[in-house]
Amino acid sequence: MSIAELAPRNVCDIAPYQGGKPIEELAREVGLNPDEIVKLASNENPLGLSPQAQAAIEEAILDVSLYPDGNAFSLRQALSQHYGVRPEQLVFGNGSNDVLELIARAFLTQEDEVIYSQHAFAVYPLVTQAIGAKGVLVPAVEYGHDLDGFLKAITPRTKLIFIANPNNPTGTLLDKIEVLAFLKAVPANVIVVLDEAYDEYLPEAQKSESIAWLEQFENLIVSRTFSKAYGLAGLRVGYGIASAEVIDLLNRVRQPFNVNNIAQAAAIASLRDADFVAKSYALNQAGKVQISQGLSELGLDYIPSFGNFVSFQVANSMAVNQQLLARGVIVRPVSNYDLPDFLRVSVGLFDQNVKFLTALSAIINP
Ligand SMILES: *Cc1c(COP(=O)(O)O)cnc(C)c1O
Repeated sequence: MSIAELAPRNVCDIAPYQGGKPIEELAREVGLNPDEIVKLASNENPLGLSPQAQAAIEEAILDVSLYPDGNAFSLRQALSQHYGVRPEQLVFGNGSNDVLELIARAFLTQEDEVIYSQHAFAVYPLVTQAIGAKGVLVPAVEYGHDLDGFLKAITPRTKLIFIANPNNPTGTLLDKIEVLAFLKAVPANVIVVLDEAYDEYLPEAQKSESIAWLEQFENLIVSRTFSKAYGLAGLRVGYGIASAEVIDLLNRVRQPFNVNNIAQAAAIASLRDADFVAKSYALNQAGKVQISQGLSELGLDYIPSFGNFVSFQVANSMAVNQQLLARGVIVRPVSNYDLPDFLRVSVGLFDQNVKFLTALSAIINP
């Protein structure tokens, strides 16, 4: 007997999550100095974090011998005011991935079906398979979610629908009117998750109105994160917003101390620093234009992106990725997202984007 046989089939069948290669690892592998390496692989904020968050972290460090506030009282107050929702409408996670997992654990059994899109965020199939529920993949249309296709895929067994808006790794965005019409069409006994990890990177006119929709749809859960525009990816803090009844269920399966005290303090300080988010937004808009134009000049097709990354098509993507690594540029292959001819590059600082484009140019036009 192999020890792995002790785990249920649905667990053995999970494909492990592939993250971006850490800088230190590449430095060891190719013998480069870590300073010469540019990591544009995990949609991290190239500006780092808010100076106010940094100060809050230094203060919170003094309390690490104490358990964190399991109810995240202060962060809850801050977000409740920020969004105009009741404190009971918020649940916190060790990153928003944790919130996605809480949703799966609270609602799914092996009898249930979960709908998500082709090329959608990898965590949806992961949390679905961990429970042993059945994932139903709806083919993408022009790399985006096909919401009509989602409606057609609903069966009496459908319990949960995951929508990434904008989606990672394609960067596609659904129209607000379309999403609202979809919510109206979905039966009330199906939970809909709107994963809005990149909402802060959207232009004002395109920002989600999902928080207002919560009043209308008790089956709606919105998830957001401090990992992207707020620059706190390493601290792991995200949250879900929904009806108090849904949040109560999610809290029952939540580990009581899932968000540490440094993360809570940094999140509160970040939320107050609107200037930092505005700066991050502006840098991302400019960098996205820079990268998109650079790719066009190289004759490469890319998917227009609403996130802080761009997925582009390139022949021999795996070999190109290896050559980028050899030149100290880490991007993300996305073949596990059913996009074998694509690579995803995160928007960096101006000079990092130049380094990426220069390396790519040298590789494809040697
Ligand atoms: C990055 C990302 C998240 C957030 O992950 P965290 O766990 O909050 O760091 C969630 N959804 C999508 C689509 C993402 O790309």
